[in-house]
Amino acid sequence: MSLHISVLASGSKGNATLVESPGARFLIDCGLSHNQVALRLAAHGCKPESLDAVVITHLHADHMTRGAKTLCLRQEVPLFIHEDNEPFLLERFERLAGPNGRRWIRRFRFEPLTLGDCTLTPFAIPHDMPANTCGLRVESRASGGISRFAYATDLGHFPSSVLHAFEGCGAIMLEFNHDIQMLRRSARPDRIKERIHSDRGHLSNAQAAQALRQILSNGGASIESVLIAHMSAECNTDEHVIHELLTAIGPSILEDVSFVFARQDAATPTVTAAATHYAC
Ligand SMILES: [Zn+2]
Ligand SMILES: [Zn+2]
Repeated sequence: MSLHISVLASGSKGNATLVESPGARFLIDCGLSHNQVALRLAAHGCKPESLDAVVITHLHADHMTRGAKTLCLRQEVPLFIHEDNEPFLLERFERLAGPNGRRWIRRFRFEPLTLGDCTLTPFAIPHDMPANTCGLRVESRASGGISRFAYATDLGHFPSSVLHAFEGCGAIMLEFNHDIQMLRRSARPDRIKERIHSDRGHLSNAQAAQALRQILSNGGASIESVLIAHMSAECNTDEHVIHELLTAIGPSILEDVSFVFARQDAATPTVTAAATHYAC
């Protein structure tokens, strides 16, 4: 009855997260080639055609690629996208605009949607897209239990308005993109640094650690696992993430919560968002 989560890839070169419940199996984002998705799913004993859906958070190329289009058209996996992003999707992936492609596109709004036994609640996060970028809260209800997972990457800051999405979760996935000093010292062009650093860019370790502190003290006491996501290969390290966690929250955080670092080149082990029981 629990949700099981494995991050197949995370970072600026491609993102895909497999979520499985007793009644649904889907990807959040698909920024990998079809071959890579198939390979990484196979490591979990899954075939691409067994997916119930691919849910796209936004249209940056590291979250939506031709691999997602192929899953949709060849494997007939429905592609879920916020309705405001649909015109940009059809512009970039012309074959999805044809009758066969449109058949597999499902539009959503910032309202709960159902996938098998899961309820997905998208919420808006601040990022530099022409339309919008979504975080997702996933709830699975089965056999008298409820399991919750929340996902938020690609956000320039963490508004308190999204805190509610993390309430009661057993596991969450949060962006820890960069260490500010490493970003400043990097050889990247100034305009790229400014974009990453802006309030519609990416979350620094310090911002993410503060966000986690807020989450934990606002209905997040149930969190057992945190997936550290979308780390910059050039401007971050595990040690910098841990340093900011210790600074923002203190040493107890490393005992209270299990941290799993999501990588670009390999899938994480499966993380479970355990179910809490409710009276029938
Ligand atoms: Zn993005
Ligand atoms: Zn991204």
